[in-house]
Amino acid sequence: MTLIPILAKHVTVVVTRVLIKVNKLQLMDDLYFFGGKLVAHSQRSNIDIIKGTVMSEETIFSKIIRQEIPTPLLYQDELVSAFRDISPRVDSHILIVPNKHIATINDVTDEDELTLGRMITVAKKLAKEDGIDESGYRLIINCNSDGGQEVYHIHMHLLGGQPLGAMLSV
Ligand code: AMP
Repeated sequence: MTLIPILAKHVTVVVTRVLIKVNKLQLMDDLYFFGGKLVAHSQRSNIDIIKGTVMSEETIFSKIIRQEIPTPLLYQDELVSAFRDISPRVDSHILIVPNKHIATINDVTDEDELTLGRMITVAKKLAKEDGIDESGYRLIINCNSDGGQEVYHIHMHLLGGQPLGAMLSV
């Protein structure tokens, strides 16, 4: 009696998994129904995707910004916050993030221009405080999977303290 809906759901899940793989969204590790739609969820990035569209969802960075997770803040104002990367790739590795949750650079709007500019002026200030302004540094913002984005709350990497080598190693 209840077999048909279960089978239908199973088939939909399998088809959606295939579609997700085709869309190169293999980061997804969970599927569930929300508002009658199938949603793919990534625990690692804490995002939900419906048909490839990233839904607004807070990440661990929002908790750091609100200090619900006691990560030391290097800087905070009404627009942006900055803290050290938990897994530094170089001697000086700082993340500068907007306080407002914006999932990717694809999601920024004209209204965000002040915030995005502030991210750069704060990077300059922190580079000086970390003593890497004269030796040099690199600012990186990754976007989506090919860009290597892991946390879907935009952030600028401030990297320095040692020679960084070639810009890309693909
Ligand atoms: P991306 O690959 O550009 O999304 O970079 C995400 C960065 O966030 C990585 O370099 C991580 O090491 C860093 N990260 C993840 N979780 C935390 C955390 N709790 N505190 C500080 N940095 C983090």
